[in-house]
Amino acid sequence: MSAPRLEVDLDKIHHNARTLVSRLAARGISVTAVMKASLGSPEIARTMLRAGVSMIGDSRMENIEAMCRAGIRAPMMLIRAPMISDVPRVIQYADISLNSELDVIRQLSDAANAAGKTHAVVLMVELGDLREGIMPADLLHTAGLVLDMPNIKLKGIGANLACHCGVSPDSRNMDQLSALAHSVEAAFGISLDIVTGGNSANLNWAFSGADTGRINNLRLGESILLGCEPLHRQPIDGLYTDAITLVAEVIESKIKPTQPWGEIAQTAFGEKAPPADRGDIAQAILAIGRQDVDPDGLSSPAGIDIIDASSDHLIIDCGDHPLAVGAEVRFQLNYSATVRSMTSPFVTKVLHASRPGGTAIPVTAPATASPTTNNPRKIA
Ligand SMILES: *Cc1c(COP(=O)(O)O)cnc(C)c1O
Repeated sequence: MSAPRLEVDLDKIHHNARTLVSRLAARGISVTAVMKASLGSPEIARTMLRAGVSMIGDSRMENIEAMCRAGIRAPMMLIRAPMISDVPRVIQYADISLNSELDVIRQLSDAANAAGKTHAVVLMVELGDLREGIMPADLLHTAGLVLDMPNIKLKGIGANLACHCGVSPDSRNMDQLSALAHSVEAAFGISLDIVTGGNSANLNWAFSGADTGRINNLRLGESILLGCEPLHRQPIDGLYTDAITLVAEVIESKIKPTQPWGEIAQTAFGEKAPPADRGDIAQAILAIGRQDVDPDGLSSPAGIDIIDASSDHLIIDCGDHPLAVGAEVRFQLNYSATVRSMTSPFVTKVLHASRPGGTAIPVTAPATASPTTNNPRKIA
């Protein structure tokens, strides 16, 4: 089988999604499955929908468009504020978008009007993490203007924490979001369908037994794919943490000294401290590099240590067990490594079922590139 490749176990992803959907349902919270780390894979989206998520979310219109074209029929939520240059495409393919700028929403209104459609808008509120969101004091004013815009439905409000500054979702900021929802509803005599409290970082709060108030949706990516919560990167009880595996192939295997020789200047990626002298080691090179993965986000199998990575080479110390050229090494990935590998055109994605007799569905990357995409995907 070709390498490097990501092996994605759809049954494990289904289990993780289903478990989170049912635990959160007990707390009155629905799940938007966030697909941005899956490059909009329609197979993964279908798996999420079978597991009971109520919406599909993505930060990139390319992915949303690809999923729509692949026949995914579910409410599509654009979770990054739309670019004005993307507005026609947002109206065509996304049902809901998360927004924080009136100028953008005005353009969405015009485009929806021209297309004879209604577009649903969730207003994002800044709760302290200092990425996207309207300042809380401006929310009522903004909501009033949005309610007057033709072909726009004010679907709800939301927040995003723990992305820029690591601010944790807790009762204080979540209660503030609930109170803001109440104040919008009271001020305009409306009811908001969605109060979307955040991402996987909200799970500790959601399962803490705290009052969930008006929060009735979370947008989950990492916790479904990797089975862990992102605040302390702890595994979530009952979830698989090994649904995704990266496989790379050995292209050189030699006994080499740990000390370089010659005059030492910068490396391909800048200054580096000289390695400690450990004598000779069994060193191997894997045909994978920074173009394919974030090497800092890889966990190697027992007995293997990652020494360094350049654009195309991962240098490993094989310990007591030298590897043959052509051998494969399997790694677990953190979120950063997952996103980079999923979006690298050099990494084949192999989606498979884990149940006995399940068939592998090899998908050659890029799995979901849309024929009309004119923005080449950037490496994260
Ligand atoms: C990425 C993202 C999510 C999903 O985050 P996870 O930690 O992967 O669950 C949710 N909402 C927004 C706005 C995002 O950018």
